[in-house]
Formats: sequence, structure tokens, C-alpha cells
Amino acid sequence: MFFGENKMTSEIPKFYAVPMKKRLALLRRFAGLSKKELETLSHNSALEHKLADMMIENVVGTMQIPLGVATHFKVNGRDYLVPMAIEESSVVAAASHAAKLARSANGFKTESTEPHMIGQIQLMGVKNPAAAKRKILAKKGEIKNLVENQDSMLKKAGGGLKDVEVRTLKSRRGNIVVAHLIVDVRDAMGANAVNSYCELIAPYLEEITGGRSVLKIISNLAVKRMVKVNATWKKELLGEDLIEGILDAYEFASVDPYRAATHNKGIMNGVDSVIIATGNDWRAVESGAHAYASISGKYIPLTSYEKNKRGDLVGKLEMPLALGLVGGATRIHPVARIALKILDVKNANELAEVAASVGLANNFAALRAMAKEGIRKGHMKLHAHNIAMIAGAHPDEADIVAKRMIDEGDITAGRAQIILHHVRKEQRKKKIKSIVKKVKKKIKRKRGNKRR
Ligand code: NAD
Repeated sequence: MFFGENKMTSEIPKFYAVPMKKRLALLRRFAGLSKKELETLSHNSALEHKLADMMIENVVGTMQIPLGVATHFKVNGRDYLVPMAIEESSVVAAASHAAKLARSANGFKTESTEPHMIGQIQLMGVKNPAAAKRKILAKKGEIKNLVENQDSMLKKAGGGLKDVEVRTLKSRRGNIVVAHLIVDVRDAMGANAVNSYCELIAPYLEEITGGRSVLKIISNLAVKRMVKVNATWKKELLGEDLIEGILDAYEFASVDPYRAATHNKGIMNGVDSVIIATGNDWRAVESGAHAYASISGKYIPLTSYEKNKRGDLVGKLEMPLALGLVGGATRIHPVARIALKILDVKNANELAEVAASVGLANNFAALRAMAKEGIRKGHMKLHAHNIAMIAGAHPDEADIVAKRMIDEGDITAGRAQIILHHVRKEQRKKKIKSIVKKVKKKIKRKRGNKRR
């Protein structure tokens, strides 16, 4: 663990078993953290260290990001305040504004499929893949019985195995027979539930195919758990020029994967924020979203835009979205629990539909901002504020520094540092001046008293 005098390697056996205080002391020594930095890490947040330590391994603190609430959302006629956890400025404001503009056409309308997830069982060494496929499909009933006999919470919640599909693939290591278990996971994201179904069924598939099972795991390409959302933005609110600009911007994304990647990032700004706020797995959704965006062999936008007969702008989003109200961190993280209470959704589908609505809102807002004024200008104020903070400004100094940078047209960390230096100098001078003034006043008062 140690080498030289005080230097440490990263080889720390059983770091997880070391009490938190000692873990922090080791970390401090390794990274040369100051006492203040250690205090920052030790500070308990809404997610207390004790709980965090149970959620993941080797915990040394918690990472807090801002939680905002997007306003004006109406989804399927119901009003929502939507919790969004994100570190990037403008996203919550953009979503709220897009939702406000969509309200005059009744907000967001959604639909979603049943919450079906796909579990994959990989079978290698199968001599006749076509025959194996037939055998597996012929034994669907037996496979279902195996699952039915398991006393599972999922079954009690109304979920369970719905279907079995089989694919055969060619690989450099020979044919692969892949059985897909289609599992209704109800209000769970479903990874653990589906994985355990795969583990349960794999030996039976080995038996009937003569193959060797390797991976038994959920697929994050959740094409059987789709959400669709659409919204209309009236031409009276946007203006015809802006609608044309948004359609041009969308067209660019639909023919260019470089642009489509950024376009979809804008969607995920909204979707991920809701996912994180509710303690869901955003990596699972991200991987599914991008895999789905390229499922045709070409990476395309997840949204589409067109004009309706009236000339209004209609935006649509379609994506796989596997979210849960139970499982993972959803019921463990205290902030996620509150976020879910604020949303008050009746099931996981409704949560996914709200998250997708925020994704569409953010995408529309970004296209609108870029088509209208250029996104940089819109971001300028908040961006300048962030740069000022990066340069070391306190929140009350950041406003002054940001304003000067915008006026000068130079929003860089280097400039922020120089301005901050001047601002502090001016403030010091002001302080000294006011002290001198006070002292002078005091002396004057004393002299006056003496004369009397
Ligand atoms: P989980 O196992 O913690 O909870 C789901 C379980 O809750 C169900 O199996 C069921 O037993 C029970 N349950 C109670 N009421 C229910 C209801 N109304 N509807 C459905 N189930 C109900 O979690 P999970 O959703 O199976 O898995 C999610 C977790 O798995 C996440 O933390 C995720 O990060 C993690 N994970 C993801 C992947 C992946 O995405 N590839 C892989 C492994 C693990």
C-alpha cells in the first residue's frame, strides 16, 4: 500500500471494509487533500453517508448536483411539476419555457407500450441452430411453466414471462443461438428481475439444444418498452420564420450523424434529468436510446418535426424508456422518493411518459433557441456566471464579473480572473474608504463632545 516515505499506491486491500473515517484519511494521504477538502467530502447531504455506503462500494462522500423543478408541464391533460437533477445551466428553464409554449395546444400527448423488457440467453456450440430455434419455440409452454412455478414478487405485481423469441447469429467463434425472454416487469426497471429469469431458464435451454449458455442478461435496447410523445407549438406563438428555421435545423440532424448526436444529447438533457431525480438508471436509458437511434444502420434523431395543416409545428419523440418506481435507488434515495412524490405518477409507464415529454420539450427549446438567436447568446448570461465561479468568484461577486465579461465580449476564465482581481481590489478600497469615513465621523463627534 505504501512506497517511499509517504507515497501510496492504489493497491488498498479491503478498502470497502475500512471504516469511513479511515477511508477518508487514506484518501487524503493518497491525493494530498487539504483539511477543508476532507471536510467537504465528510459533509453529510440529503443522502447520508451511512445510506450511500450501503448503495455502492468504497464510499468516501456524496456528489450533489442541483435539483430543479420544471414548471408548466401538462401531459395528457394533467399538470405536473417535474423534478430535474442536472448540473448544466439553462436546461430546466428551457424545458419549462417549451412546456409553457405547448400549453396553448393542450401540452404533451403520450402513449406507451406495456413494460416489456428483453432478457438474452446466449447459447454457444449449438450444432444445428435452426433446429435449436424450432425446439426452443416449441417449448414455450414448458419455459413459461418453469417461471410460473417460481414464487416471485414480479408475478404478484402482475408481471412475468410473456413470450420467447429466438435469433441465430454468426460470429467468429461460431454460431450463436440467442433466446429472448420477453418479460413484463410492471413498475420495475427490470434488470435484476429479467436477469434472474434468464438464469433460471438457461439450464433448460442447454438441455433441449445441447448448447452451452454463456451470457444471461437483460438487453438495454428496450424496443418492447417504447414511449411516444407529441406536442404542437402554434404558429401564432412561434411565427412562420421560426418554424421554418426549426424544420431546417431538424433536417440537418436527420441527414447528418454528427449533428444528430448533438440533437439527441439535447433530448437526453431533459430525459436524464428526470431519470436522475427519480433514482433511475440513466446509463441503461442512454445506451438504449442511442442503440435505438441507430437501429436502421444509420444514426438518426429520436425526434421528428413537421407542420400540420394549420401551419403549427408538431414535434414527436419516440424512444425506448425503461424506468422504475420500485427497485434500484428509486425507493432508497431520500431525494428520489420525494421527487416521485412530487410527480405522483400511478405507474412506471406514466413516469416514462413524463420523462419523454421533458425530452421533447428540451429538444424543441434547443432548436428554437438556435434557430432564433443562436444558442450561445441565449446561454451567455448563465455561461458567464459559471465561468466567473470557475475563476473563483463567490456567488455575490459572480454577477458583477459575469456582467463585465458580457459587456466586454470576452467570456473566458482568464478574463474572469483578471476582472475578479479588480472587483476585489475595488471592494477592498470601498471597505477601507467606508472604515476611514466611519473613523473620521467618530473623531469629529468626539471633538465636538469635548468642545461642549
Ligand atoms: P430490483 O430487483 O431492485 O426491483 C425489482 C423487484 O421489485 C421485482 O423483481 C419485484 O420482485 C419487486 N416488485 C415489487 N413491486 C413491484 C411492481 N409493482 N412492479 C414490478 N416489480 C415489483 O430492480 P430491477 O428493476 O429488477 O433492476 C433495476 C436495477 O438493476 C437498477 O439499479 C439498475 O441499475 C440495475 N442493473 C442494470 C443493468 C442494466 O441495465 N444492464 C444490469 C444489472 C443491474
